[in-house]
Amino acid sequence: MKKEHVIIIGSGPAGLAAAIYTARAQLQPLVIAGTQIGGQVALTSEIENYPGFWSEERLFTGPELVDVMQKQAEHFGARLEYDEVVSVDFSHGSPFTVKTYGNEYQADAVIVTAGASPRRLGVPGEEEFIGRGVSYCGTCDGFFFRGKEVIVVGGGDSAIEEGLFLTKFATSVTVVHRRDALRAGPALQKRAYANEKIRFVWDTAVDEIVGNGTVQAVKAHNLKTNEASEMPIDGVFVFIGHYPNSKFLEGKLAMDEHGYIITDELMRTNVPGVFAAGEIQDPIYRQVGTSVGQGVAAAMQTERWLSERE
Ligand code: NAP
Repeated sequence: MKKEHVIIIGSGPAGLAAAIYTARAQLQPLVIAGTQIGGQVALTSEIENYPGFWSEERLFTGPELVDVMQKQAEHFGARLEYDEVVSVDFSHGSPFTVKTYGNEYQADAVIVTAGASPRRLGVPGEEEFIGRGVSYCGTCDGFFFRGKEVIVVGGGDSAIEEGLFLTKFATSVTVVHRRDALRAGPALQKRAYANEKIRFVWDTAVDEIVGNGTVQAVKAHNLKTNEASEMPIDGVFVFIGHYPNSKFLEGKLAMDEHGYIITDELMRTNVPGVFAAGEIQDPIYRQVGTSVGQGVAAAMQTERWLSERE
């Protein structure tokens, strides 16, 4: 069993911010990064609203932000392990046990920043066509839809931002939304309404994704008139929110009914010495900026908790 001072579970903005702060506090954190560093922001095409990370010449991308954060964390002494946590034992207090596929660790303190994942529609055909026309990431898969027609499901910031990004590749982007008004912020809405490639289908729910090897159409119905329709389409991008990646913590930490870890204003969970930050405990803000702030706060509280104990 390897002994660590601080283990950070997750490598999104909250995890990397916590890594920078705990590393600068000489705590030599180990970041269990998952199989891919960066969490959801690593899949984001353009970052427009993270303060201090912007220029008039060009917008920076999620991977660029992650790359800088990773270098910054490593520069100050954080170590990254590309592995996934399979189980934890917090039942005896500190030191805690954290098991990954490859290792078993003991840690004096743990910061949980495992983030959230895209929600699925849960309709027939969705699972079958993942990677063959169904996608949850425009940045990852947009390129495959050059010259094709796609739909985007959802009406939030993600749907509109990704829909705008997809217009770089697709000939048309149809936003299918279950209501007749977008949830996305006004700036994104304005850009979407001004974009000739984007059209909107309101009050509509997708019922099924159909195809033959790859996606060919979606079956849908209007929620007000109940009228059924079938739209021929090459790709379906789903952006309908997220769920917290907290399954491995069930029964170990207090959570709300949706699986978000409950923290207090000091980012403490119900287990002393275990802190949580970012989207795994934040169903409200879910911004890079807020996740970074929560990661910083969790790191500062971890440092305080450890020094008070010593
Ligand atoms: P969101 O704000 O929760 O929006 C989800 C959208 O999907 C809503 O329009 C919702 O409809 C729809 N939806 C939910 N369940 C559905 C279902 N089963 N079938 C069909 N439609 C469904 O999620 P998000 O867009 O991923 O954004 C998450 C958070 O990240 C937000 O706080 C957002 O502000 C933030 N974010 C910010 C930016 C940015 O600032 N540039 C970019 C991306 C994300 P209703 O509207 O009817 O509820």
